[in-house]
Amino acid sequence: SKWVYTFGDGKAEGRADMKNLLGGKGANLAEMSSLGVPVPAGFTITTEVCTHFTQNDRTYPAGLEEQVADGVAQVEKVMGARFGDPDNPLLVSVRSGARASMPGMMDTVLNLGLNDTTVKGLIRQSNDERFAYDSYRRFVQMYGDVVLGVEHHHFEELIQDLKDDRGVDLDTDLSADDWKDLVSRFKARVEEELGRPFPEDPQEQLWGAIGAVFGSWMNNRAVTYRRLHDIPAEWGTAVNVQAMVFGNMGEDCATGVCFTRDPSTGENVFYGEYLVNAQGEDVVAGIRTPQHLTIHGKQLHGSDLPAMEETMPELFNGLCDVRAKLEAHYKDMQDMEFTIQSGKLWMLQTRTGKRTSKASLKIAVDMCREGLISETEAVDRIDPAQLDQLLHPMLDPEAEKDVLTKGLPASPGAASGKVVFSADEAEDWVKRGEKVILVRVETSPEDIGGMHCSEGILTTRGGMTSHAAVVARGMGRPCVAGAGDIRVDYKAKTFTVRGRTVGEGDVITLDGSKGEVILGSVATIQPELTGDFATLMEWVDGIRRLRVRANAETPEDAATARKFGAEGIGLCRTEHMFFDPKRIIHMRQMILADDEAGRRKALDKLLPYQRQDFVELFEIMQGLPVTVRLLDPPLHEFLPATDEEIDDVAQAAEVSPETIRAAITRLHETNPMLGWRGCRLGVSFPEIYEMQARAIFEAAVQVHKDTGETVVPEVMIPLVSSKKEVDLLRAVIDTAAKEVFDATGASVDYIVGTMIELPRAALRAAEIAETAHFFSFGTNDLTQTTLGMSRDDSGPFLQYYREKGIYEKDPFASLDINGVGELVELAAERGRKTRPDIKLGICGEHGGDPASIGFCEKNKLDYVSCSPFRVPIARLAAAQAVL
Ligand code: PEP
Ligand code: MG
Repeated sequence: SKWVYTFGDGKAEGRADMKNLLGGKGANLAEMSSLGVPVPAGFTITTEVCTHFTQNDRTYPAGLEEQVADGVAQVEKVMGARFGDPDNPLLVSVRSGARASMPGMMDTVLNLGLNDTTVKGLIRQSNDERFAYDSYRRFVQMYGDVVLGVEHHHFEELIQDLKDDRGVDLDTDLSADDWKDLVSRFKARVEEELGRPFPEDPQEQLWGAIGAVFGSWMNNRAVTYRRLHDIPAEWGTAVNVQAMVFGNMGEDCATGVCFTRDPSTGENVFYGEYLVNAQGEDVVAGIRTPQHLTIHGKQLHGSDLPAMEETMPELFNGLCDVRAKLEAHYKDMQDMEFTIQSGKLWMLQTRTGKRTSKASLKIAVDMCREGLISETEAVDRIDPAQLDQLLHPMLDPEAEKDVLTKGLPASPGAASGKVVFSADEAEDWVKRGEKVILVRVETSPEDIGGMHCSEGILTTRGGMTSHAAVVARGMGRPCVAGAGDIRVDYKAKTFTVRGRTVGEGDVITLDGSKGEVILGSVATIQPELTGDFATLMEWVDGIRRLRVRANAETPEDAATARKFGAEGIGLCRTEHMFFDPKRIIHMRQMILADDEAGRRKALDKLLPYQRQDFVELFEIMQGLPVTVRLLDPPLHEFLPATDEEIDDVAQAAEVSPETIRAAITRLHETNPMLGWRGCRLGVSFPEIYEMQARAIFEAAVQVHKDTGETVVPEVMIPLVSSKKEVDLLRAVIDTAAKEVFDATGASVDYIVGTMIELPRAALRAAEIAETAHFFSFGTNDLTQTTLGMSRDDSGPFLQYYREKGIYEKDPFASLDINGVGELVELAAERGRKTRPDIKLGICGEHGGDPASIGFCEKNKLDYVSCSPFRVPIARLAAAQAVL
């Protein structure tokens, strides 16, 4: 088997499409090398080796050793240096690289190959003894920590001791001899801790580092990251061994990170940051504030430091060429890392750049207009979950705000929350039901759990490509980074800015689009749905087959749904219309009445409200289909609870409170979700559905008369399990329709259908379709009844089910395709057999979930119906489902 793939010198054994085997980094290094982009030579050890290593007690497959040796020989040849050579030593980096990017989650070793002999060679090469010993001590420190497991603090302590000895404060005050001295102190401490010396042999160093990087695939933070991002453990990581280039060998050296377009706005401008005389990790770690690549970037962020465009124009042009080449080749925005060693440019990485939702949209639309990609590709590029962020609130520009300070606009969106100062506290507070903003000097990979549960993240150090910024953008959390005016005091749990102090638990607001940190909470508004958004949605609508409707009952929701492009209402839950205090009393009166006369009395009071509700809905929907579901509440949701409520109902019904109490006792149910609800109400008390049907038809006739729109109500019967229920209730509806039409001398077309939300209904779909014109799959109840898991109570134990992989996703959020899905498929098939043109839709929560929408497309349902805010997501997912 082939375990090792080499690259460098304009050639490569791998390709960009080999990410599964080589990881993202390795595959793209190979591709860049083949494209003729300057890449330091190296080789990639495949992810299959990681799997072997993990499953076989940290051992390697046969043949690996020889292949690595050949890989090293190849790198030596290309770079003209040799491992362990005292004059011209080859030094390498050893880095992880998984299929999906997992920034900072796994281990890295740099400057590998240094020892007491080769450091002399590095001195000769660099002409800089201080640099060579600094590199050497960095290597011993990193290797000691990452590979040998000697904890970080040992090295920190020794550095501090040395500084104390020399009476200096800063690293920059230490001389070559000091670093040399430190190397000895580090090695002595390693030996003390481990009982064996630090390895001098570059081969031994290399194998140690390879094992450590493979091993880091299973470390805690990598495991957590994978859990949060749904990355399977089986993927494994590749290991990249690559010749070192140094960005910290002097003033003609630099290192940086750049994007082919602005990752915040999506604008087609070169965007990036770099540090002169620094090593790669320094930019990402946010230890020094970097300079901008372009004059544009400098002006955009009001930086005083000169841009690379000004200080190193030739190298900048070289980088621009790489930018153009890579974007044209990959046809997507790239995130690149580069190093300049003694005036020569080297590319260390390229990958598809993470971007904000706004940028994602703009880049897709722009690239299509630039002719780089097609409309279909543009649509396919947008992650429906990312689109979600665009639909979320921004700060109201009119609102008063008390801006404490500004930092970098690292990740857009706005959020308010209570200040906490550690990731652990963030998690604790959120568990208690609080909303928090995580405030840190800087964040590190260990913080991701706490970052994930925070509303927003504020850091006082680091740039746009710092850990906090990158991770927050990926998570869609607003983030203000590098707010340098803020002084954080972790001990006191406060931060101070310009003489003002904010403590733990105080509310602040972040505007991640502007970089503002605001005291208190600020009103928000909905974003504009025009421009690129509208353009993309036009393309989406040209592609999709599924119709998208909304679940809505109030005029506001219906209007929002229309604004987001809903093509009708797929579910109007009429019980929600009765929670208004003016109505609930009559609703209760109706439920608690002990005879038909009592119920009719209450229903008469409800009819005008109900009719008006439908008039408004029909008007807003302007002839689009509206599915009205007849009453379906588990009665307990409406029962009066307090003495006051009981007295009110008694008064309205003109009976004693005792009568009401007796009725409540009579109606008490042990298992209300499987109780007296849905069409069982209509079967027991047909006058309820009669009133609702009457209200629907009177409203339809009236709106048709007033506006001239064709109103086609779709009347839906909930929670059916047998054809007989549907027969009985359809007769009630048809009679009401006839009465209204006779009385008004007008008529409208209408259809009557059922929800399919019980397994028996799915099984008996063939005969139910004899009476029903349409089915709407109520997958909330269908999931609850198929899995036998309460939709209201299963959260706590479902967590274990997901952890153990029994259900990979929450079946109430994403359709259980194998189980519940089979019932949907079967009911659709049986229903169509009876009635070939039967209209089929889904209106459970799953109607807004992209994976479930894919399933609906596969089964050729007619529409999905979801909450108004999810309508654009559903439209996009429906388009992607046909691609
Ligand atoms: C369903 O059960 O999926 C449904 C849409 O109805 P409700 O959520 O109102 O029970
Ligand atoms: Mg239901």
